[in-house]
Amino acid sequence: MDDLKYGTRDKRGNWAPSKPLEIAPFWRGQFRNLGQWFLGYLWPHNTIFMAVTLAYWYFVLPDWAVMQTISWDWALRLYAVNAGGVFLLYGAVEFFFYIRRVQGTRFKYNAKFPADQRSDVFWFKNQNIDNALRTFLVSIPIWTLVEVAVLWAFANGYSNAVDPGTHWLWLTILLLLTPAIHEVHFFCIHWLIHQQPLYRWIHSIHHNSINPSPWSSMSMHPVESTAFFGEMAWHLLLPSAPFVALYQLTSTAYGAIVGHIGFDKLEMGENLAPDSHAYTHYLHHKYFEVNYGGDGLIPLDKWFGTWHDGTKEADEQMKERFRRKKERLAKQAT
Ligand SMILES: [Zn+2]
Ligand SMILES: [Zn+2]
Repeated sequence: MDDLKYGTRDKRGNWAPSKPLEIAPFWRGQFRNLGQWFLGYLWPHNTIFMAVTLAYWYFVLPDWAVMQTISWDWALRLYAVNAGGVFLLYGAVEFFFYIRRVQGTRFKYNAKFPADQRSDVFWFKNQNIDNALRTFLVSIPIWTLVEVAVLWAFANGYSNAVDPGTHWLWLTILLLLTPAIHEVHFFCIHWLIHQQPLYRWIHSIHHNSINPSPWSSMSMHPVESTAFFGEMAWHLLLPSAPFVALYQLTSTAYGAIVGHIGFDKLEMGENLAPDSHAYTHYLHHKYFEVNYGGDGLIPLDKWFGTWHDGTKEADEQMKERFRRKKERLAKQAT
């Protein structure tokens, strides 16, 4: 596929889409294409996460009586499934697009591949080894811990769970709103850990990967992993149900890869190249203090002036904001 039909490539070989990023249409007063937007909302990401959640629900979770007591038995089983799932999904993207490099640098934002660059900031000076170790040794255990704790709380009635038979309509709405809950939760914790000294202590680990790849998605400090996966606990406070809580967690965990794919489209056939939706978060890794949230379903970045849509104008606005911040800090120091 000719990626220059969809974007431009600079002298260094870095590719950028020509179409600016857009927040959800209803915030821009556009209601005509809502049906199409809604289909894109469901397919493919959220449908895949739903399929994964159903697989967990029917084939992985033990009986509720078992989950009333926390034990290594089911906790380790959940860890094995979580680690296996991430290995398969993240590993497949890594294998095809970063190891075998099936589409070269077509649609790739940063022309370089992490494996070709060594840096002292990483364990063993290697981004892939560092990121993969942090994923399997830190983030997946914490994901599993949150999962076990919340399921245990549901099993023992420490929640505001409602009956799915009676409240099916509300639970369906809540299920559809889980990406919005994710976006608000993620924006808040993410903005917070960008403030000093939290950034230095915690979040700088994730930002060591300026050129993110699939393994960067969960390469986090344990405090960040806890806050990130802790999103599931909202469903103990809300009138919710265990399945909705599980969907929230599953889509957060498997969805973390989305912003770190590094390619704008993944070529899967002659005329099939789905959008990755990675550009919003790629710009965050490139510029740090923009796009704290997601795709603009709840456009908090737009409202707080930190939205970067990839255009030159957004670039100028960002530079102006950075200049004002520098001046403010300089004034405070005198
Ligand atoms: Zn990231
Ligand atoms: Zn960040």
